Amino acid sequence: MSDAWIDIDLDAIANNYREITQHLSPGARVMSVVKADAYGLGAVPVARTLQKLGCQAFAVTTAEEGLILREHGVEGIILVLGPVSSEQMAEALEGDLQLTLSDFYMLRKWEAVAAELGKEAKVHLKLETGMGRTGFFEKDWELLAGLLKESPHITPVGVYTHLARAAQRDQAYTRQQVECFQRGVKVLEEHGFTGLWKHVCNSAAFLDYPEWHYDFIRTGTLLIGHFPATAFAGKLKLQDPWVAKARIVSLRRVPKGTFVGYQSIYRTKAETQLAVIPVGYADGFGVQPHFVPQGVWDFIKIVIKNFLALCGIYRGQETVTLQGHKIPVAGKIGMQLTVLDVGDLSCETGDEVVLPLRRTQANPRLLRQYWSEKRLIAKRNIKEGFLQSYPEYP
Ligand SMILES: *Cc1c(COP(=O)(O)O)cnc(C)c1O
Repeated sequence: MSDAWIDIDLDAIANNYREITQHLSPGARVMSVVKADAYGLGAVPVARTLQKLGCQAFAVTTAEEGLILREHGVEGIILVLGPVSSEQMAEALEGDLQLTLSDFYMLRKWEAVAAELGKEAKVHLKLETGMGRTGFFEKDWELLAGLLKESPHITPVGVYTHLARAAQRDQAYTRQQVECFQRGVKVLEEHGFTGLWKHVCNSAAFLDYPEWHYDFIRTGTLLIGHFPATAFAGKLKLQDPWVAKARIVSLRRVPKGTFVGYQSIYRTKAETQLAVIPVGYADGFGVQPHFVPQGVWDFIKIVIKNFLALCGIYRGQETVTLQGHKIPVAGKIGMQLTVLDVGDLSCETGDEVVLPLRRTQANPRLLRQYWSEKRLIAKRNIKEGFLQSYPEYP
């Protein structure tokens, strides 16, 4: 039994999937994006759950992620969204992964490798329409179509693009991107590439533009119970399947004036109880993504926060939840240990606290622990059929 872990509620994910499918335009299907270990929830159990509900298409970033799904019995379409090197091609084709073709170097290499293996590479063509990451630019579409005709081992099955500002609800920019995409589809069709699956919507665009659902919508954020931005909140009835927890592993009563942690930046203001939990920045606790100010107001907020921190008024402290109360972290978060100032709250060693961990930053160890414990419990339980109800992972 571990003292820090993540609880996953697969029923909540199932609920979110059903909720999404009810808002699909006719003819469209869900491509479940389960990259980055399903945004930190466990790609295998999440994909299996969705497969049971009828999901026929999945997307990941790397070939390796796709192969892990295949090894664990995920069927249907698995699209690799990111670039795949020619060294990874053999395995990717063996695993029947569909690949994103996004530049001419790939096209040349892949055709050569697929020819050598005597295999057909099913690809989705990625069009650059304004994301500026990967994809063929408009000036190159004619050339692309021509070269595809000379690449017998490359079979386009889909065409797509990725929207940069859908979550910001920048309608003008998004429309411009989709119109560009439509011009690309037209060029391809003129060259005989008809009937390709088309997909442009991520979670935000799915909610805002039913007219662009096409053959697939690609969603990950909504499946895991989040909205792409607060402006979308309430548009679907989503449930949160994820909660990170830890147990108090040590509890002591200390007098007023006790220094806590590295650099002694925290000092107790009265007699209190200090609790230790076995998580720290090695688990992703207290780790923040780099914040880039988007305007003058953002910038002013940063300056104010830093000024208050300098005066010792604001420390940007994390809080955890214990018995429904917000409890402040005392002092600096350590590598794997963190101290909480629990005051006079009546609690004991072994009590559970809920952690504000960011999903994609949470150490995968916490998640694996959870799934392997589920598996152990399932194995111990001799009841017929019980084992099947818990997916094995990893
Ligand atoms: C991550 C990703 C998605 C999913 O987007 P969400 O808004 O997180 O649902 C869709 N398409 C591509 C290409 C992606 O990289």
